[in-house]
Amino acid sequence: MKLSQLLFVTLKEEPADAEVRSHALMARAGFLHKLAAGQYTYGPFLLRTLRKIEAIVREEHDRAGCQELLMPALQPKELWEESGRWDRYVTDGILFHFADRKGSEMCLGPTHEEVITTFAKRFVKSYKQLPLTLYQIQTKFRDEIRPRFGLMRGREFIMKDAYSFDATEEAMAESYAKMRDVYTRIFSRTGLRFTPVQADSGAIGGSGSEEFMVDADTGEDAIAVCRDTGYAANVEKAVSLISPPPAAPAKVAMHKEPTPGAKTCDALRELFPELPVERLLKTVIYEVTYEESSAVVAVMARGDRELNEVKVLNHLNALDVQLAEHDTVKRVTGADVGFAGPIGLADDVRLLADSSVEGVEGFLCGGNETDVHYLDVWFGRDLERPETVDFGLVQEGDRVVDGEGTITITRGIEVGHIFQLGCKYSEAMNATFAPEQGKLTPFWMGCYGIGVSRVAASAIEQNHDDAGMIWPIPIAPYTVLIIQMRPGDEAQDAVAQELHDTLQSEGVDVLWDERPKISPGARFKDADLIGLPLRVVVGRDAAERQVEWNPRATEGSEVVSVEDALAKVRAAIAEANAL
Ligand code: ATP
Ligand code: MG
Repeated sequence: MKLSQLLFVTLKEEPADAEVRSHALMARAGFLHKLAAGQYTYGPFLLRTLRKIEAIVREEHDRAGCQELLMPALQPKELWEESGRWDRYVTDGILFHFADRKGSEMCLGPTHEEVITTFAKRFVKSYKQLPLTLYQIQTKFRDEIRPRFGLMRGREFIMKDAYSFDATEEAMAESYAKMRDVYTRIFSRTGLRFTPVQADSGAIGGSGSEEFMVDADTGEDAIAVCRDTGYAANVEKAVSLISPPPAAPAKVAMHKEPTPGAKTCDALRELFPELPVERLLKTVIYEVTYEESSAVVAVMARGDRELNEVKVLNHLNALDVQLAEHDTVKRVTGADVGFAGPIGLADDVRLLADSSVEGVEGFLCGGNETDVHYLDVWFGRDLERPETVDFGLVQEGDRVVDGEGTITITRGIEVGHIFQLGCKYSEAMNATFAPEQGKLTPFWMGCYGIGVSRVAASAIEQNHDDAGMIWPIPIAPYTVLIIQMRPGDEAQDAVAQELHDTLQSEGVDVLWDERPKISPGARFKDADLIGLPLRVVVGRDAAERQVEWNPRATEGSEVVSVEDALAKVRAAIAEANAL
């Protein structure tokens, strides 16, 4: 493939809204073009990468016995009413929905549980047809609140979604374990560094869920990992052991303390330097949304700990949990934000506590009066002991629950999510099969997603430098770039052509930069920007059949013979595909 014959335009400027490197670099290199928020044209180079990722995804699914199908993106509302998800997705705002010319409501699929369940219901009648896993690779539509980071969070993006159907819970767990292996193989083959983590199953419930995270400092997700025990969990889900509660002080009567302007733990610590921070209990006021109602909930936690709103949401089985607005805080506490406490809250407020408060006595807490806190408060004596639940956000340095080790917090990009669904959809949609014995039974299901377009972005998020992208060999748009310094030079033309033809005949994706009249600087700048991993420079020494081996990821280059350059290409490709 000759570069001069391709549409290849690089830009000097980065898009103003590019907050992450993958977006900026891909936009500059013409890999993508923004049409509207979260909607991109995938340019020819990017599409080659997407196709390679899809090929790996397909091969590994097929190897595991999964079957590919293709469902419509356009889905009727009735299906979503059967599963009971329509209202929720509409209220959430995530669903693109509209009426057709006859007035029938429909949506552009954000996911396909409903459609696949209907399909299975029609065609799978007997346990003899199980287990069964079906998958598709398709465009998904989600009206994200904040489409951003380029391909990372689009409103239209490519997803591989798979669904397993089983006769029993145990069989579902087996299908899930198999898909876990499929995912591990897929992400290993892409050449990315990744971490599978325990994940929050959220409102969907089910007995297990894991996310596959591409390790990247810019990732939106925080992950709790323990190098000693191998524990890895999304912080939304993570648990840990925290330092024990401090010794209780002598029992004195609870009393008010003036605390003018002290709205934060730090301000209070300055006012009460003798008081250990663990004996300072905060009370956070949340506004909680349910499907058909809302409520205000107060949650206590130790001063040195943070709350995990996902855990609060799950415990309350709510749709949404948000920090309360000032007006709500004022109404339920009678005070400005910063002085909320457990004593004297409005009657309609439910009081809960994080387990970090267990064993803490003689503490300081908000007085529900502006500029006032209570000191020397005892559970049982001054207020009823609230229900305690693990609402804690795991912090760096916490101890792991199972085994000996300390937790560190790293960041990752969620590229895959696997899920044991149970019978949620099959029951709701009455999708049953005839078991070996007994009456019709709903399928045990699992669902498994991979953000194909997000994988491409995360590859660059993980692998780039100041000059540009650095593609891993297995998913690079082209594997090899031949950089010819002086097109038209007879010796160079001959060597470059030979390299090109040899590699192409071996099935290697090779791109030949033989553009005329480009300065060496510009040629290398473009090469660095697009980041093709294996590079051979054909220059001055071509007449002696000498070229430079100049892989993108390593500094400098090495003069080698044409034969050795070919051998190096073959070796690098073999190593990258070794799995
Ligand atoms: P997130 O938490 O990032 O919003 P999600 O948990 O809602 O993602 P899933 O429903 O699990 O996403 O979808 C499966 C996969 O699809 C995700 O693991 C992710 O890789 C990808 N994905 C989800 N939303 C987007 C998006 N808006 N743009 C690109 N990829 C996405
Ligand atoms: Mg997910």
